[in-house]
Amino acid sequence: MIREKMVPDTKKSELEQIAEISSQYVKDCIQCTKCTAGCPASASMDILPHQVIRFLQLGQLDKVLESKTIWNCASCFTCAARCPKNVDLAKLIEAVRLTIIRRAGNNRLKTDDVPGKIDDNMPQQAIVSAFRKYNK
Ligand code: SF4
Ligand code: SF4
Repeated sequence: MIREKMVPDTKKSELEQIAEISSQYVKDCIQCTKCTAGCPASASMDILPHQVIRFLQLGQLDKVLESKTIWNCASCFTCAARCPKNVDLAKLIEAVRLTIIRRAGNNRLKTDDVPGKIDDNMPQQAIVSAFRKYNK
């Protein structure tokens, strides 16, 4: 079997790519805020979960890309479970994180960079997870 590296379709806008990766349709969101009300990480977010969707609806992707929220989301899927419109915000946020990784191109985490970025308190699972995310 020939294994090919998956590369993004650069002809599509990043918003279209996010929709494709996540399989979510942001226009379904009615801004009821139930996702935010149930989010266990909202206190540490600079943009609340329902606001993430609103910025995506308005095409203001950079506001989301620059936010702390996408890194503070714990991918717990509480928002998806609570949403009356079946919008899965956790998948959308993961797709936004992937957009940032794609923007970085080949300038990703290398093995030699790791010792300077970890300390004794970092869980091993976080190190493995970082490699999965940044070293593909
Ligand atoms: S719970 Fe669903 S419909 Fe309500 S604001 Fe969140 S994503 Fe939108
Ligand atoms: S998946 Fe992220 S945004 Fe959704 S409830 Fe959990 S922490 Fe909040």
